[in-house]
Amino acid sequence: MSKANKTVYLDNAATTKMSGAVLKAVMPYITESYGNPSSIYEMGQRNRRAITKAREQVAAALNCPPAEIYFTASGTESNNWALHNSRRVITSEFEHHAILHAVKGDVTLLPVYDNGIVKVEDLEKALEENPDTDLVTVMAVNNEIATIQPIAEIGALIADWNKKNAEAGRGQCLFHTDAVQAIGNIPIDVQAMNIDLLSISAHKLHGMKGVGALYVRKGVNLPPFILGGGQERGFRAGTENVAGIVGFGVAIEEAVRDIEKKNAELIKKRERIYNDVMKIKRVRLNGDLEKRLCGSLNFSFEGIEGEALLLQLNMKDIAASSGSACTSGSLEPSHVLLALGLPHEIAHGSLRISMSRNTTDEEIDYFLEHLPPIVEKLREMSPVWED
Ligand SMILES: *Cc1c(COP(=O)(O)O)cnc(C)c1O
Repeated sequence: MSKANKTVYLDNAATTKMSGAVLKAVMPYITESYGNPSSIYEMGQRNRRAITKAREQVAAALNCPPAEIYFTASGTESNNWALHNSRRVITSEFEHHAILHAVKGDVTLLPVYDNGIVKVEDLEKALEENPDTDLVTVMAVNNEIATIQPIAEIGALIADWNKKNAEAGRGQCLFHTDAVQAIGNIPIDVQAMNIDLLSISAHKLHGMKGVGALYVRKGVNLPPFILGGGQERGFRAGTENVAGIVGFGVAIEEAVRDIEKKNAELIKKRERIYNDVMKIKRVRLNGDLEKRLCGSLNFSFEGIEGEALLLQLNMKDIAASSGSACTSGSLEPSHVLLALGLPHEIAHGSLRISMSRNTTDEEIDYFLEHLPPIVEKLREMSPVWED
């Protein structure tokens, strides 16, 4: 067996393996350098400087000044914070639950159609119908089907809309994007894309779990999220996760380096998977084929339960997902696939494959060797399957 008895890990949208450089960078901060960054002695101040450096690294990756970056404990927390002050919100039907379950006030949901992409014209119409909207939040890349949203176009539309608001003496509308799945996979530039608020998470880009960040453009009036000490300039209190933050800086620097080169490799693997899987009968790709991450695919197999498929793959030591990790274990089909208009029984039989820069051709070979017989076996066992 060529995969050397290692798990074939095709679930990088759920979390990623910490990179060697991140591990090396964080080690001193979880061993010898344990001082509190608010303390005045050298071990504390050294840790404060390490946080400053990480803030610069994150800011450079997003193209903003370091003062616009606030560290949090997760992508979920960043999303919750971004929504904290809003009363009238426009978002999409297939956001992560960290948006959909956290959003307050009056909410308009934009449709995502069968290709899994928001239409800018729909947003324009929704703004005109709801001129008091104070926040638009649309994810940059969907976490289940990996479709890329027109973030630059949405940013430009809202910038124009705000010019009209200013002339009419109305309040401004902020633009937030959940970019947790986007950073490191597609280029993101908060200035060029007119983004006011942006959420990211370290563990989705080969950093540690339990650390995220929120970009808050200067001039945006967002209230503090957690009250206590003066950490994060009084906006997000609590002693800093120094090691996690240091690792985040290194991870994001690595992640945004050579995106094109990494994507050129990933797209070859993706095409191989796509071509092979589509040879299986009665299978469909979920989400647009072109406007998607180079390393990710989501399929539905007629006549198959996603959970059963995952268990069979697990017996072959292949780790994949049927949607977001947060919804697995529930019997409800994914809200993302239902938003695409899929019938329940097809939404149930879905498989998400998400690669990373660590994925090898041998892993793909192994997966492609084992998937078709598993699908066939499950269909044979199904009382409802008819050829
Ligand atoms: C993983 C994920 C989150 C949550 O991030 P955590 O750091 O795990 O809380 C939010 N949004 C998207 C799109 C994600 O993929």
